[in-house]
Amino acid sequence: MRDENNSPATRYCYHCRTHHPVEEMKLLITKTGSRWRCVKSIEAVKRSKEERDQYGRQVSAANQAEASGRARMLNKIQQER
Ligand SMILES: [Zn+2]
Repeated sequence: MRDENNSPATRYCYHCRTHHPVEEMKLLITKTGSRWRCVKSIEAVKRSKEERDQYGRQVSAANQAEASGRARMLNKIQQER
């Protein structure tokens, strides 16, 4: 079956607000319906979260209990955003 002409193999990415090839896209189910989002943006968020967690651990390990408590609070604020 060849219907590439009728339906281009791209999907609108609500995160980047642009079209990506469908093989880079992932369909997410939300309360308001299904949305396409590119794997790249999902991976980027995942990676930046891990880096942030790692940074938080390094900070708390390097500093005293007082400083690590502050870092944990900062982490919490960032996660809630
Ligand atoms: Zn995207």
